[in-house]
Amino acid sequence: MSMVSSEDLGNKLDRLKSVVREFIKLIGDDPDRPELRETPERVARMWLEELASGYGRDPDEHLKYFYVNSANYVSTNRLVAVLNIPVRSVCEHHLLPFYGYAYVVYVPSDEVFGLSKFARVVNVFARRLQLQERLTEELADYLFTKLKTKGLLVMIEAIHTCALVRGVEEPLSMVTLTTRGQLSADSGLRDEALKIIKTGKTSRNLRLLKP
Ligand SMILES: [Zn+2]
Repeated sequence: MSMVSSEDLGNKLDRLKSVVREFIKLIGDDPDRPELRETPERVARMWLEELASGYGRDPDEHLKYFYVNSANYVSTNRLVAVLNIPVRSVCEHHLLPFYGYAYVVYVPSDEVFGLSKFARVVNVFARRLQLQERLTEELADYLFTKLKTKGLLVMIEAIHTCALVRGVEEPLSMVTLTTRGQLSADSGLRDEALKIIKTGKTSRNLRLLKP
């Protein structure tokens, strides 16, 4: 859980509300018109409770125990893949969301993580101002150590709403990929990992937004 006391949270919420009010004024609207009256509080809460909820949180809190839910694993003799892990983050260049899926493939070790743990760990790193490239590396570093695995691949495919709402010709989606250990060294194993991802990934939601 977050270390923030409810008093701290209340104080932050009040300050953020006035910032949002000011923001609305500065972009040319009237924060006192009835339709906008609830907006500063709603926006402040959304940031503190959701979009920025990864600050001050330790991903280890989600990894105290392990269990296996085989239903959603795609596994071969040599690899375990956890696919379609939701990623919802905010781009630090524009403060606009990017969202998509993460794919983690690793060489099985004695430690087995439950699927829901992956989603929560991704959330701790994603619920802050981020760059997709850095998020990918942070996840790989963290999981490579914690899974005590000999090899790991992390791929993220995401739509960037900053590109969607601003540019006309800018690409909307981005794929980032990084490898550790055997999945860096052994190209055969890496190809196998990528094949599993290709077979199992769900990009429906992303495709909806592609032109
Ligand atoms: Zn951006």
